[in-house]
Amino acid sequence: MDGSNICSVTAKHIETGEELSFEAPLFSDCTGDGTIGFLAGADWRMGRESKEEFNESTAPAVADDMTMGSSVQWYSVDEGEPSGFPRFNYGVEFTNTNCEKVVMGEWTWETGMNQDQINDFERIRDYGLLVVYSNWSFLKNKLPENEPFRNRKLDWAAYIAGKRESRRLMGDHILTENDLRDFVEYEDGTAATTWSIDLHYPDPDNSKKFPDAEFKSIAKHINIHPYPSHTGACIRAMWITCLWRDGTLALHMWHWVLFG
Ligand SMILES: Cc1cc2nc3c(=O)[nH]c(=O)nc-3n(C[C@H](O)[C@H](O)[C@H](O)COP(=O)(O)OP(=O)(O)OC[C@H]3O[C@@H](n4cnc5c(N)ncnc54)[C@H](O)[C@@H]3O)c2cc1C
Repeated sequence: MDGSNICSVTAKHIETGEELSFEAPLFSDCTGDGTIGFLAGADWRMGRESKEEFNESTAPAVADDMTMGSSVQWYSVDEGEPSGFPRFNYGVEFTNTNCEKVVMGEWTWETGMNQDQINDFERIRDYGLLVVYSNWSFLKNKLPENEPFRNRKLDWAAYIAGKRESRRLMGDHILTENDLRDFVEYEDGTAATTWSIDLHYPDPDNSKKFPDAEFKSIAKHINIHPYPSHTGACIRAMWITCLWRDGTLALHMWHWVLFG
């Protein structure tokens, strides 16, 4: 660093340990977690802002640490003959009434919304795997009428969880939900975002069955007009004059619209 300027970024090869130093006039932080900006001392936020702060309709009354979660997806295949699966029970009890009677898990197998998506990320991934294996083990070994699962093999489970939301580096300007809903135009508007405001929450049914240990989510959508996000002011992380980033840098409420 030289004042508020990043002079170089050092990368380390995770297998050989070799270090490479990159010097450049501009850097783009594409780490998803805003790691370069964080290490350089940029301002950042994580979680949900209060309604009072930006008057967003979907904001909670009190700010909290909730983020969207990470998905551990999986699928099974029909092998045409019965196959076994180990009895797997490490503390999450599945029964006939709380198990998921499905042959694959898509994005809705999402967890860690109330945990730290950076520091707890391995734990979040491990819990995602734990419920996939525990549920499948129940279907294969204990579910009374398990005909749909008898010939199926668990073929794949994601060993890297798919992250949605993380640290947001603050730019010179903070876009809010109201910018999108009121179509506030900025002169440096560039790429149009066409997706809805798409916020994920713990699945209420899953919350009842697994309080504070949810692993399924729902999405709530609010449609918007295609919106030209003004990248310049938002993407340049405040104080770090040469740092740009590609990921999430707006408020929790609508960052999914721009970068999801
Ligand atoms: C299940 C699921 C479904 C989704 N569906 C959609 C969809 O339909 N439409 C859509 O638009 N978006 C969707 N998304 C979101 C989309 O995938 C993400 O928003 C997008 O991938 C984020 O991109 P990114 O480049 O910011 O971060 P990432 O894709 O996370 O890339 C970050 C990269 O930086 C690397 N990295 C991190 N830290 C370091 C470090 N310290 N040193 C070196 N390298 C590092 C990582 O290994 C990774 O390769 C979905 C996400 C999930 C999980």
